[in-house]
Amino acid sequence: MRISTLVATSIGCAQAFVLPQAFFDAFAAPAPVADASLWPHKPYFLKHNVDPDTFPDEIQLEELNATALDLYHIAESSNGTYGHPTRVIGSPGHWKTLGYILHQFDQMRDYYDVTVQSFKALNGKVSHYDLNYTNGEAVPSAQAFSLSPPVEPFVGTLVEIPNLGCSDADFEALEISKDSIALIERGECPFGQKSTLAGKHGFKAVVIYDNDPKSKKGISGTLEKPTKHTVSTIGVSFAVGQKLIAGIELDPEFSLFFYMDSFVKKVKTKNIIADTKHGDPDNIVALGAHTDSVAAGPGINDDGSGTISLLTVAKHLSDYKINNKVRFAFWAAEEEGLVGSNYYVEKLSPEENQKIRLFMDYDMMASPNYQFQVYDANNIDNPRGSEELKNLYIDYYTSHGLNYTLIPFDGRSDYVAFINHGIPGGGIAAGAEGINTDNGKVLDRCYHELCDDVNNLNWEAFLTNTQLIAYSVANYAHSLKEFPERETNTSSVLSSASAPKYPYKGGANLLL
Ligand SMILES: [Zn+2]
Repeated sequence: MRISTLVATSIGCAQAFVLPQAFFDAFAAPAPVADASLWPHKPYFLKHNVDPDTFPDEIQLEELNATALDLYHIAESSNGTYGHPTRVIGSPGHWKTLGYILHQFDQMRDYYDVTVQSFKALNGKVSHYDLNYTNGEAVPSAQAFSLSPPVEPFVGTLVEIPNLGCSDADFEALEISKDSIALIERGECPFGQKSTLAGKHGFKAVVIYDNDPKSKKGISGTLEKPTKHTVSTIGVSFAVGQKLIAGIELDPEFSLFFYMDSFVKKVKTKNIIADTKHGDPDNIVALGAHTDSVAAGPGINDDGSGTISLLTVAKHLSDYKINNKVRFAFWAAEEEGLVGSNYYVEKLSPEENQKIRLFMDYDMMASPNYQFQVYDANNIDNPRGSEELKNLYIDYYTSHGLNYTLIPFDGRSDYVAFINHGIPGGGIAAGAEGINTDNGKVLDRCYHELCDDVNNLNWEAFLTNTQLIAYSVANYAHSLKEFPERETNTSSVLSSASAPKYPYKGGANLLL
């Protein structure tokens, strides 16, 4: 029986992943360093103004280490239900992550006001699946789509769908039996739409083949928002798709064995928003990281690192006076399709929206084979101010003698909702499954895998990026005088909201 890719990667990583005891000992008893300075607090009026030039130097590697190890242990609390550490929404590891963040802010309650926002997101798990020829041989490159509903084992006739299976017309003329499997080419519309249309027209399952002859790996994607018609769906490579078509042409009764054990459910989860009590409430400096991981692993780089950076900067900021209000946002369900950040931005009233001067996204700060990536924003395609934010990052890396690379806004992290609702945005990242252009190797070999643990972090990148986050916060908390005013024309905000410039197209597996 073929096991799911999630389980396969888990096993693949398990051997490489045992941390030496000495490593744990070195970072045992984490909290006191930070806690000692937290309480009792200095009264606000006695604090010094935050200085962007010196503030970043306060960030120390030891506190990043300590919090990373805390998060890993928190992820381990999911072992009982998931069989391995994870902080996926709905898991004990994710609930404890939220509890940990709330506890940290509770210790700074004279400096921050914390709100918790509940919402629901779809979560699913594919435990097992099989796609076999009738002789029992597995169909190569087969990968289950996430959020795929289950189907009991059956042998079904494979039917090639004309065109791309994106409209009712593509299915209407077909004569099928009750155990038919639709074979559909990738393209034109989302995977979920193809699967739902096939289900609606009586197909029991779907095989989608890639449209890119160069891609050998098959397709791994998500059905995003399954409906009552959506059926079990498996992706295969272009070459395998061509073989299956040839099979149908030779034998109209050409059949496959199909099986999927999975679930899809709605999970309640929460965003955490921490606002400084002080600073101008009409000029808010917002930044965010996501608290959830994928189910496959603990997500210590993705996005434990961003969560840790925000917590660390928030602690140090509480020692200072500021001029503008700072909002630290901890999003949930990013990996399910940017659900938490979208929910948050859509709930903002136009007045609340206007008060946010910019949003900074910090997702994956410490990738093992990192590059210093900056989102390539500009003030023509993106809300005015996005370009100034990009330049702040570039100037920081350049002035520290570091190389940076520009990466496009690809719709894969929590900046999307902000930019689409007229709020200037940007951010930095250290890299996911892409290739490091300096050395040709993958940026994060443990991206969305079990081995995204404490050993996966590059501490040099982590420290540099957290210090840059500290700089970005201190700089704008101190002054927004040089930063462009928000475009006050509400119609432009509304039009950008109704016609998103960065629609979410990727699968959950493509999210950072
Ligand atoms: Zn991420």
